Amino acid sequence: MRKLPDDEIRQRLQRAFLTSLPRELPTRPGAMDAGGGRGHPCTACGDTIGPHDPAPMEYRYPDQVVRFHGRCDALWHDERGKRIPR
Ligand SMILES: [Zn+2]
Repeated sequence: MRKLPDDEIRQRLQRAFLTSLPRELPTRPGAMDAGGGRGHPCTACGDTIGPHDPAPMEYRYPDQVVRFHGRCDALWHDERGKRIPR
């Protein structure tokens, strides 16, 4: 499977912030889940998150579910804390 470089994933996250990707964590109890990958696509890189991928995360918002590989999750936390340069 092709692994995207960090920079590419960061660019995808920044583009997603402009459309649908939240910067804030969901506030509802139980909305964050560190469960194993169940074959859903990663919101950041688009690759499938499988049962053997380390530390995947799932965030359930009222209007969408966001899922990341462990690595992509770390990049999301990093990127969502940044302000878009203007
Ligand atoms: Zn990913």
